[in-house]
Amino acid sequence: MKRVYMDHAATTPVDKKVLEEMLPFFTEKYGNPSSLHSFGREAHDVLEKARENVAKLINADKEEIFFTSGGTESDNIAIKGTIYRMKEGITGYKGPHIITSAIEHPAVMETCKHLEKQGFKVKYLSVDKYGIVNADELKNSISKGTFLISVMHANNEIGTIQNIDEIGKIAKEHNVVFHSDTVQSIGKILVDVKKTKIDLLSMSSHKIYGPKGVGALYIKKGVKLQPIVHGGGHEKNLRSGTENISGIAGFGKACELAKTRLNKDAEHLTNLRDKLIKSVLNIIEETYLNGHPTRRLPNNAHFRFTAIEGESLILSLDEKGVAASTGSACSSKKLLPSHVLMAIGLNEVEAHGSLRLTLGRENTDEDVRYVIDVLPGIVENLRKMSPLWGKKLEIEKWKREMK
Ligand code: PLP
Repeated sequence: MKRVYMDHAATTPVDKKVLEEMLPFFTEKYGNPSSLHSFGREAHDVLEKARENVAKLINADKEEIFFTSGGTESDNIAIKGTIYRMKEGITGYKGPHIITSAIEHPAVMETCKHLEKQGFKVKYLSVDKYGIVNADELKNSISKGTFLISVMHANNEIGTIQNIDEIGKIAKEHNVVFHSDTVQSIGKILVDVKKTKIDLLSMSSHKIYGPKGVGALYIKKGVKLQPIVHGGGHEKNLRSGTENISGIAGFGKACELAKTRLNKDAEHLTNLRDKLIKSVLNIIEETYLNGHPTRRLPNNAHFRFTAIEGESLILSLDEKGVAASTGSACSSKKLLPSHVLMAIGLNEVEAHGSLRLTLGRENTDEDVRYVIDVLPGIVENLRKMSPLWGKKLEIEKWKREMK
């Protein structure tokens, strides 16, 4: 059976060149970068080379990159690190200490909820039907006690791209630290920390053809954070723990490849994405696109099918060899409707009828054609079994008879 992987927002395969870069660090070059001997120095050099490559991808300086275990840890360090440092000043101010959006990844959302339980105030900005934050609501929410704005660059479910240049400008005007989770955007669209007024930025390796369990936090020169993991003082005291050298070497290589391939990849993905979106919307009745029609990630197609359960759709696609998702991998085992889809104004039934297809470098025209071939039949079968679809047809029939 043909197998088509279209869940690249969940994770990507490791690029062969990335794997090659990683392998020596398991068996030959296994030194600890903190050691003074030649094995240690070898590991240290790799760490610094990778740091340089990560920095180049976002136009940062090497000294501004701090390695972590991935996007979740980077988000946690950025948010808690900022807020705990500001803690002394929290009393006496009205208004939120943190401003974030209603559609953040759980790595940001749950961190903010945790901080709320500790007494910090959080404002969750609403979004429009495409998932875009309103700049006026942001401006009006900032108060004297606001220390941090955390708004993601591109949404992991619906692929909508936020105007982080504008948000960064507002944050600077009000002297508030600006953090952005760019886990889904780096390597797919241009991220430039010199152009965008950004202070903290989270990255993850496994979304850009690197290994899992490694990522980085960009910290603009001069921005200070309180460490949340204490120990041997690695990563300039910010994040203690022996560095994951093979993973970091792979992440560095993945960033190098992503930078050189950015335009080529974006063109390829946009082309496939647009074919997929156009065909699915044309061929299958009562189907809608979630997210922004143009301000969306080049690899994201997110649909809503009337009277269908997204979970059944995923299972039926899986039987045909197609890997897709209803939303983020982290929440796909929960049966709760996605907070992102609810925030853009869908009701629970609509939110449950959604499907995310996220393309990758290795996907071809043939893969897209295969999905377009199998999807209409699957939707038709599921609708035949759907009481909601039956009711809809009955109502339409009744309306025709009444005319
Ligand atoms: N932020 C976003 C937007 C994501 O999509 C993800 C993963 O899906 C994460 C954070 C978490 O990254 P990691 O899996 O590296 O912890």
